[in-house]
Amino acid sequence: MSPIKKLLIANRGEIALRIMRTCREMGIKTVAVFSEADRHALHVRYADEAVCIGPAASSESYLRGDKIIEVCKKLNVDAIHPGYGFLSENAKFSQAVKDAGLIFVGPSAHSIEIMGDKLSAKRAAARYNIPMVPGTPDAVTDRAEAKVIASQIGYPILIKASAGGGGKGMRIVENEAEFDEQMERAVSEAISSFGDGAVFVEKYVASPRHIEIQLLADQQGNTIYLFERECSVQRRHQKVVEEAPSSCLTPQIRAAMGECAVNVARSCGYYGAGTVEFIVDDKLDFYFLEMNTRLQVEHPVSEMITGVDLVRQMIYVAEGRTLEIKQEDLQINGHAVEVRVYAEDPANNFLPDVGTLQTYVRPQGNGVRVDDGFEQGMAIPIYYDPMIAKLITHAATRQEAIDKMVRAIDEYQITGVQTTLGFCRFVLQHEAFTSGQFDTHFVKHYFTPAVLKGQTNETEEKIVAALVGHLLQETKKTSNASSTITAQKSKWKANRS
Ligand code: ADP
Ligand code: ADP
Ligand code: MG
Repeated sequence: MSPIKKLLIANRGEIALRIMRTCREMGIKTVAVFSEADRHALHVRYADEAVCIGPAASSESYLRGDKIIEVCKKLNVDAIHPGYGFLSENAKFSQAVKDAGLIFVGPSAHSIEIMGDKLSAKRAAARYNIPMVPGTPDAVTDRAEAKVIASQIGYPILIKASAGGGGKGMRIVENEAEFDEQMERAVSEAISSFGDGAVFVEKYVASPRHIEIQLLADQQGNTIYLFERECSVQRRHQKVVEEAPSSCLTPQIRAAMGECAVNVARSCGYYGAGTVEFIVDDKLDFYFLEMNTRLQVEHPVSEMITGVDLVRQMIYVAEGRTLEIKQEDLQINGHAVEVRVYAEDPANNFLPDVGTLQTYVRPQGNGVRVDDGFEQGMAIPIYYDPMIAKLITHAATRQEAIDKMVRAIDEYQITGVQTTLGFCRFVLQHEAFTSGQFDTHFVKHYFTPAVLKGQTNETEEKIVAALVGHLLQETKKTSNASSTITAQKSKWKANRS
């Protein structure tokens, strides 16, 4: 066992802060690294020490593993937590950290390598008889052969980049006539985005749900599952609303998926926190999609329902401790929902809308958790992911967690940039979502920018009404009462996003 006394967080924003908070609770000193664009960022201020590692572009800062390791040596750091994105799923980095005599708070280079490539992941998982979507077993080299397989599987099919991630590198092919053209595009996208042109064919599941299992494994071979997260509400194959537990699983299917996920972890000798993603069809048959070998964006919903601090457990595992939590100790406590608050314009195809946070007031109260990295007056840099915050609510039942989320969204005041808050509110109140009858096509089926125009914000309307009443009483006799009210009202309106 090698206790960690000082940990460097090779990341930025909300996830860097979230990791540092647990470190502080554990008495571990923290070191932040930052780019020139993040000089005033909260993660820099929160850390015990902070070092600038380069210009804004992540290729010159947050992706410079060599510089990060150098900082560790200079500051006597014992361990590196990579967060998500950036270097978190870089096998070479995991190895370099180890070779430098440091602890990588994450899995081995070997596990990352196997699971980082969707095809090698499937090959490893196949040894454990994990259910898989029909498709080509290897990268497509012979197009004619791939076409034959595609027509055997039946259209529509999906062409996927083996090195893909973040919802990128996927093309749906509706019929054989489109096959060649889409294949061309998929390969060139795979090369330009991931530097690897390997693609494969998979059956396109018509109305799937995305359900994933959270795992924790130690270096002694113990692996447990912390139940599932439902992540079917997506735009551009990327999640925006997540919840735990899923509204559609039975205890039997949950256990079967959990055991499958544990076997996927075993197939690559996994330790640390990890997630096994599945797609689930309308008959509740589930199929292995991929494994993410890192802490995931949506991990808080699992923390809320299990009471486990995943970052703390990751640190224990990295120190070489044996997991103290046993599968039978875990149970689902209530329901948690997370919405991702992005600086994006839902009315304009969810395009990033970076700028300065003119107003930034977080929601509060019982059962509300905000993981963010910004304060009022700060600018959202154009160089990185435009996520402002994750808003999480936890309550005894699904409906209460949803109601709490709607209330929290209404309390959140953000101006200066467009955000996904109003969109998330729409999702949470939609009948398909509240009834639990939805799939990954939720946005395509139900969302048009027009739905946001008619949205009323109840809390806001109530506050405005109260304010109007108050002002009317106070200024009954003055002649400019109505203009004061109008000005106040438009201020409230402007706070809507
Ligand atoms: P999660 O499953 O945790 O929600 P996302 O797909 O939303 O993961 O990705 C989380 C972060 O990691 C995002 O910033 C995304 O851009 C980044 N990311 C994930 N996979 C890759 C990849 N293969 N290459 C580059 N960035 C990635
Ligand atoms: P990434 O590495 O980008 O996260 P995934 O394989 O996890 O790639 O797929 C991302 C999303 O794309 C899934 O959550 C799902 O919505 C959709 N998807 C992936 N594979 C299929 C499939 N075979 N059929 C239908 N949808 C799929
Ligand atoms: Mg995925």
